[in-house]
Amino acid sequence: MDELDTPILDNHLHLDPVNGRGVEAAEAFADHGGTHLNVLNKPSWDLVEVATDEGIFRECFDLTVEVTEAASERLSGRAWPVLGVHPALISQLVDDGYTPAQARDIMQTGLDVATEYVAEGPALAIKSGRPHYEVDDAIWDASNEVMRYAFDVAAEVGCAVQLHTEGGEDFTEVAEWAEAEGLPRQQVVKHFSGGNVCGPIKSVIANTDDLRDAIETGDPFLMETDYIDDPDRPGAVLGPKTVPRRVRWLLDEGYDEAVRRAHVETPARVYGIDTTLA
Ligand SMILES: [Zn+2]
Repeated sequence: MDELDTPILDNHLHLDPVNGRGVEAAEAFADHGGTHLNVLNKPSWDLVEVATDEGIFRECFDLTVEVTEAASERLSGRAWPVLGVHPALISQLVDDGYTPAQARDIMQTGLDVATEYVAEGPALAIKSGRPHYEVDDAIWDASNEVMRYAFDVAAEVGCAVQLHTEGGEDFTEVAEWAEAEGLPRQQVVKHFSGGNVCGPIKSVIANTDDLRDAIETGDPFLMETDYIDDPDRPGAVLGPKTVPRRVRWLLDEGYDEAVRRAHVETPARVYGIDTTLA
């Protein structure tokens, strides 16, 4: 495959060293011209078990850090871990008998650990959010408290927060909450965004329609697959080759400026990383 003369970052993908392809997926990404990866830990219950304490979060994060380091060696650029707590953990915990307040506290402990991996270790950013499905008010309120806590601790260490949330386009209120906690909205990234999300920075799922919409807005944006590396669900999401393929398509369509925006300028602005360096 011919070299593309641009860095290519997949802003949100999972590598599962326990059940999935792990670094092999990173190799497929690199073979198609991909250079940089933000690797998200899978939910604790997919990787280890339902997280109820600090130790389980650490186990989960350590597995992700390890596979990310191995993936980094396969790239001409590099890979970073993005660590955090899946918002659906709250439902798992409540189903297991915890109150929403207890579940919130456990999840906030997980965010403390994730932030420690940013401040003292290898992680680039943290992940939080709120359920993408209907929940009752007590769970919704507790989830919003967890998310606001993520903004607070991220502001303390100066890192970005990736958000997993419900669908929709207007997340202005969430961006305002981040700012109220001291985190600039430019460091809040809405994972799995359509092209027209507003409020946080959009991490656009690499479909051609969503990408066109994002480009038309003129806003900063990132690109992602949300590849889940799950052998039981092949094709459930986009594969690891998709972002490089879409970049090739964008360049063919003449969107050179948008490619630079998504793979150089926005990553620099959000995470403070320089993807033009190996
Ligand atoms: Zn994901």
